[in-house]
Amino acid sequence: MAKPKIFIVYTGGTIGMVETADGLQPFNFNHLMDNVPKIGQLGYEIGNYQFPQPIDSSNMNPQYYNQIVKAIADNYDDYDGFVVLHGTDTMAYTATALSFMLQNLRKPVVVTGSQLPIGDTREDGTENLISALQVAAAKDGNGDPMLQEVVISFQDYVIRGNRSTKFTSTGFDAFKSFNYPNLGTIDLHIDFNKPFLFRPQVNEPLEPMMTMDPSVLVLFLFPGITEASVKAQLATPGIKAVVMRTFGAGNAPTEKWFLDAIGDAVKRGLIVLNITQCANGGDEQKRYYTGDMLAQAGVISGYDMTCEAGVMKLMYLLGKGLSTDQVKQYLGVPMVGEMTVE
Ligand code: ASP
Repeated sequence: MAKPKIFIVYTGGTIGMVETADGLQPFNFNHLMDNVPKIGQLGYEIGNYQFPQPIDSSNMNPQYYNQIVKAIADNYDDYDGFVVLHGTDTMAYTATALSFMLQNLRKPVVVTGSQLPIGDTREDGTENLISALQVAAAKDGNGDPMLQEVVISFQDYVIRGNRSTKFTSTGFDAFKSFNYPNLGTIDLHIDFNKPFLFRPQVNEPLEPMMTMDPSVLVLFLFPGITEASVKAQLATPGIKAVVMRTFGAGNAPTEKWFLDAIGDAVKRGLIVLNITQCANGGDEQKRYYTGDMLAQAGVISGYDMTCEAGVMKLMYLLGKGLSTDQVKQYLGVPMVGEMTVE
């Protein structure tokens, strides 16, 4: 059997940080590799690209996504799989963004990081990195890549990237997929949940996209939110789409000023996407009168998408230069396993 060839993209994050007088600071890739001699025991051929300045993932943005996409696209034909080392704070957003930006992906892109830096006495980085490499190298019975999508591999689970959410800042199992089954379990063995793995519908070459449009806003509702605040947010200069975080099954106030503000924004051409504040479940706009009023005002259902997926899907669709009507149409269609439409 040929040696698995895995390409690592190192962006920064705790996994490669070291303690300095000013707190944890990103360090370079060699520090990481020097500290994980076990990688050699896997017998894989490893290639790598590291960000010129590794970053804390709180500084992630679409320009950095482009660097990751380019590194993967430039090496796509030469490697079996890809591991992206990333801070945990915005890892769910990046994994989601990559799932849209790497259209027709047929190889694994495995995003991982750690809660404690490699080099700390008690750390989770070594295990997460080794597991991610093994997940990226896994093949199915036909010798094809087991995973043909972007995933997060972290501690005990493999999770679809665009279904993931960071849900604890202290626990080692930092990510959860609330609305879709885990794709794999990492314990004594690495087992994959085969019926739930994504398989691209078309056999086309990888189509990297590097024009995400960040003209998106998240409007978080709460009881008592003021008219001035809602109107000011909807009037944000340059904004083309809003992810509205609603209550329960996709509900919002039915006060006239609120519905008028939303309706006017939609008439002005703003795309308003309904995503519930609940981690589990989704938006069923037609279930309650309060949600139905939103549908009548022109709000689009986000079904069971995460907020991360709503934001990134909008950035992707807007970045493709589609018309408002086309964007609205695609929002209702699952593209890369990011939502379930009954
Ligand atoms: N602040 C760090 C980051 O997201 C946290 C981590 O890596 O876990 O880059």
